Amino acid sequence: MTSPVVTGPFALGEALAGREQADLLRRRIATDGPTGARLVVDGRDYLNFSANDYLGLADHSAIKAAFKAGIDRHGAGAGASPLVTGYSRAHQELEETLAEWLGVEAVLLFNCGFSANQAVLKALLGKEHLLWQDRLNHASLQEMGSQLPCRMKRFGHNDMAALERQLEPNRGLIVSEGVFSMDGDQGPWHELATLAARSGNWLMIDDAHGLGVLGPQGRGTLAAQGVHPASVHIQMGTFGKALGVAGAFVGGSRELVEYLVNFARHYVYSTHMPAAQACAVSKSIELVRAADDARAHLGQLIARFRQGAEALGWRLGASETPIQPLLVGESAAALQLAQRLRDSGVWVSAIRPPTVPVGTARLRITLSAAHREQDVDSLLYALGPCPLGAGAEGACHA
Ligand SMILES: *Cc1c(COP(=O)(O)O)cnc(C)c1O
Repeated sequence: MTSPVVTGPFALGEALAGREQADLLRRRIATDGPTGARLVVDGRDYLNFSANDYLGLADHSAIKAAFKAGIDRHGAGAGASPLVTGYSRAHQELEETLAEWLGVEAVLLFNCGFSANQAVLKALLGKEHLLWQDRLNHASLQEMGSQLPCRMKRFGHNDMAALERQLEPNRGLIVSEGVFSMDGDQGPWHELATLAARSGNWLMIDDAHGLGVLGPQGRGTLAAQGVHPASVHIQMGTFGKALGVAGAFVGGSRELVEYLVNFARHYVYSTHMPAAQACAVSKSIELVRAADDARAHLGQLIARFRQGAEALGWRLGASETPIQPLLVGESAAALQLAQRLRDSGVWVSAIRPPTVPVGTARLRITLSAAHREQDVDSLLYALGPCPLGAGAEGACHA
């Protein structure tokens, strides 16, 4: 049989072949059972250093029990969008808990962080506005920003002098992240808040990776850096990372939330998250607030990993968070290293362009409070000394 001739307007095969050739083709791998400190693939047990479940809550018995009780009480699905009949008392209670926890007036729930970010930008920014974004902001922010009629300016990663040069008074919104998802470093939130206030622009934080992990009670990056929540107009966070469930929220003034209820299309025209999920997230927040011991343990694991990896000669990022990039450079080398670790029973993800800039392919190692010290030692043992010049150029210190 001859292969079918490509017809139609979309060159799918060509695009896929291009990615394959550049070592950039992505494939999914199905896991079995819960993924915590360990995971199972094809019947084999691995140590897992690639999840965002930083506090080990994704498989927590109390959260699972709250989810199940929520299903018994509210059913499996919300049945409608929030402005129809999908908004329940359980959603309302979660919003109130979040508002109190984070020090904002009001909160709105979204099905995921990707849509929360897109909804906010789309609802706020018209063609008369300006949007300033850190160059390393999440894809959801970059993509929506570039599709909107507003003008978008991207500033160098955490480069406040560059941002200051770009700012125009009273024109729009500055967006950055609490903890950067692929680098693990933090945004300079005091400086961001000062620049926003001085220029009369609004400021938004995406704290997907800081929430639950940083600050007293896990309140996130702003609390950790001592920045008053009122100086950041929009706080966005997700429930699928440290909180161990799924979903997201946007918090701010009562007026902002009422505006989004009316104008955020991803909110208005989408079936609401199941009420049972809101019950599970409420339980998770209760646990997260009391999880100072887990956060201290996590801090010790981070220090242990960094010390060990540096002693082995690996190049790390400037990160004090559970996200620890191990910089490799070329995509093929990152894939090879990830495969070598898998062969020795350690699951770590290679992160390649376009998720990260070209030439900065890396292993994104993530630590969790569910790990034990021995698990970190096993990871370090599997990594071994950085093989200078052995297919991992640029990865080592020397
Ligand atoms: C994961 C992530 C999102 C998207 O959140 P989801 O709930 O997974 O859709 C948004 N921003 C950042 C920085 C993220 O890491």
